[in-house]
Amino acid sequence: AVGCLLAIVVVSGIIALVLAVVGVKDVYLPPGTKYGMVFDAGSSHTALYIYQWPADKENGTGIVSQAEACTVQGPGISSYADNPANAGASLRACLDKAMTIIPAVQQRETPTYLGATAGMRLLREQNSTKAELVFAEVSKTIRQYPVDFRGARILTGNEEGSFGWITINYLLETLVKFSFAGKWIRPQSAEVLGALDLGGASTQITFQPSGTIEDNSTKVFFRLYGTNYSVYTHSYLCYGRDQALKMLLAALRKENLTSQQISHPCYPRGYEENVTAAALYDSPCVPAPAAHNPSQTLTVRGTGAPAECRSAVQKLFNFTACGANRTCGFNGVYQPPGHGQFFAFSGFYYTFYFLNLTNGQPLSVINATIWDFCTKGWKELQASFPQESHSRLHNYCPSAFYILTLLHEGYKFDEQMWSNIHFRQQAANTDIGWTLGYVLNLTNMIPAEAPQQVRGQQQ
Ligand code: AMP
Repeated sequence: AVGCLLAIVVVSGIIALVLAVVGVKDVYLPPGTKYGMVFDAGSSHTALYIYQWPADKENGTGIVSQAEACTVQGPGISSYADNPANAGASLRACLDKAMTIIPAVQQRETPTYLGATAGMRLLREQNSTKAELVFAEVSKTIRQYPVDFRGARILTGNEEGSFGWITINYLLETLVKFSFAGKWIRPQSAEVLGALDLGGASTQITFQPSGTIEDNSTKVFFRLYGTNYSVYTHSYLCYGRDQALKMLLAALRKENLTSQQISHPCYPRGYEENVTAAALYDSPCVPAPAAHNPSQTLTVRGTGAPAECRSAVQKLFNFTACGANRTCGFNGVYQPPGHGQFFAFSGFYYTFYFLNLTNGQPLSVINATIWDFCTKGWKELQASFPQESHSRLHNYCPSAFYILTLLHEGYKFDEQMWSNIHFRQQAANTDIGWTLGYVLNLTNMIPAEAPQQVRGQQQ
């Protein structure tokens, strides 16, 4: 027994010596990492986001980071309406990848969600049974993996906007910060940021106005870290990029319904594509004309005419529906005056990044660049951008005019307010979108009251 005691004394002496040398007073076990996963089932595609955070620091801000973003091959899940089993199968590759990233012992406690947005909102509107079958199949697939699956559902437009707003403000630490004095504080200098999101089938605007919000259907209330926020949010269904371009094509066809040809002023001269009437009128955003033949093939020819393009795009919006005495977005939707700095992400970013317009250029430069780009012929464009996928190249002109019109005339960003828009895809190495806000909310990682004490402070 004495020998045993001696051995313990010697071993603890060595440990104490080692700790003294490296300057550590207390010994902590490694905190471990937790994970959470969200499928963003968008209209044009699905992506799986894997988030991670230190297990002992769940209540802070800027703690959760993105471990991986996996793009699901193929179209969005709403495109599998007639073949739902394949929607489930399409998720496998990303789930397999997730299983190689999340350690086996952690997988069963990894909360996993699937959130669908406007593509599924449209499918539900068209055929709710088909939408349910798609959900049944994607859920079946996710359940085959050893994760804590917490369900698949459609987000409301308000949720989509709100969670995007939470994501940005969480990542930029505008809600709460850990001060040098060891307290959670509301940053004095940081104003909360607004969020502008352009998806394939809907677009969201979310910000904290300086005055009151007069329409309750656009008002969301949060209490985060001890502070109340009244936030304006609205989601415009059908005003995502792909649905808007579809509405544009249908509107151009309306000018001459009997013709098989459609002249498209936003497509480059020399560009030509065929679409069937069935494909053009396949969504509730684009009602088919009374007498129409779905199997008819329509030939779309680019004319590269920016002035005509701009005016055709403007006609997609109703700017006068609000009347004179109300602040307004478009189509009669209430919107208080814009306030503060905004982050514009997803579809806003892709198109403006391609056109080199994400460096804070003034509205006049943005206008001139888009105008110039839209006069380029198809041959010239293909030669200038050999790397760019040809399936996207013809769409940059209409997308750019669409974004310009939406932001400037729709959301009312004038020359001065324009400089408050920051086009970004990421913040703190994490993609900006609704998914992070969603997982933070559902795992209760943003407390209503500010944490009183610092937990697990380690070197
Ligand atoms: P998402 O944020 O994935 O919902 O996409 C928003 C819109 O941007 C959709 O209309 C997509 O078709 C389009 N889009 C997605 N990725 C890109 C890209 N790399 N370049 C241009 N457009 C894109």
